[in-house]
Amino acid sequence: DGALYVVATPIGNLADVTVRALAGFHAADIVLAEDTRVTGSLLSAYGIHKKLVSLREHNEREMADKVVGWLLEGKIVLQVSDAGTPGISDPGARLAAAVWAAGLRVVPIVGASAVIGALSAAGLESGQFQFHGFLPPKSGARCKTLQQWQQADYAVVCYEAPHRILECVEDIVATLGETRPLVLARELTKTFETFLRLPAGELAARIRADSNQQRGECVLIIDAAPRREAAEDALPAPALALLAELAAVLP
Ligand code: SAM
Repeated sequence: DGALYVVATPIGNLADVTVRALAGFHAADIVLAEDTRVTGSLLSAYGIHKKLVSLREHNEREMADKVVGWLLEGKIVLQVSDAGTPGISDPGARLAAAVWAAGLRVVPIVGASAVIGALSAAGLESGQFQFHGFLPPKSGARCKTLQQWQQADYAVVCYEAPHRILECVEDIVATLGETRPLVLARELTKTFETFLRLPAGELAARIRADSNQQRGECVLIIDAAPRREAAEDALPAPALALLAELAAVLP
């Protein structure tokens, strides 16, 4: 029986499609896409013309049954989203679950994803991250979400719409403080790709001063909370008092 191929596509630069993805498109009987025009133009850039079927969040569940049927008939089915990796802040998870549940396989054809692209060049030290995806669009709910990361010892990767990036960074200043290190990765793989690595307060000022920073596609990384003076904060008061006493009598 067939497998469903989940295929990553470029997040800007069309050259980021993989050789394996192109081979998959050539072989496919059916390509499931979000916006069939977006995927259609990617495929036609590579001279490929295939039957495209729309799969979006709202019809993912119904489509899942059809896809399982096609796979059982031996059809080669690929799923893509508009850009990047399906299932990452994009449709795909429900479909994959349904295919596994039917006893069939799901095979990833890996490639671009904005979260990994941003992290790969961000130069963060903590080595750990949480992928959050889109923050709530309204400030109240957003601040509540942000608060949970006050003491995070890992970075948090968020996707944000460009017209909300300034208020989002301002909310970070308000909830996590102006010294919290941030990385704004904009327009990855495109002509105006920009990385801004600044403390929250300075990043807000920068975005306010330059409206170009409020355009295009954005990944915002909230780095781990700066470490407090480890020894002093970690030890309880009696231990600190004892240390002080010892320090006074030791050579
Ligand atoms: N599935 C995609 C992935 O793997 O990255 C993400 C899809 S999500 C609907 C779209 C969001 O991803 C954008 O709003 C933006 O936050 C981020 N994004 C996509 N392409 C990007 C790019 N070239 N540069 C920066 N961020 C990008």
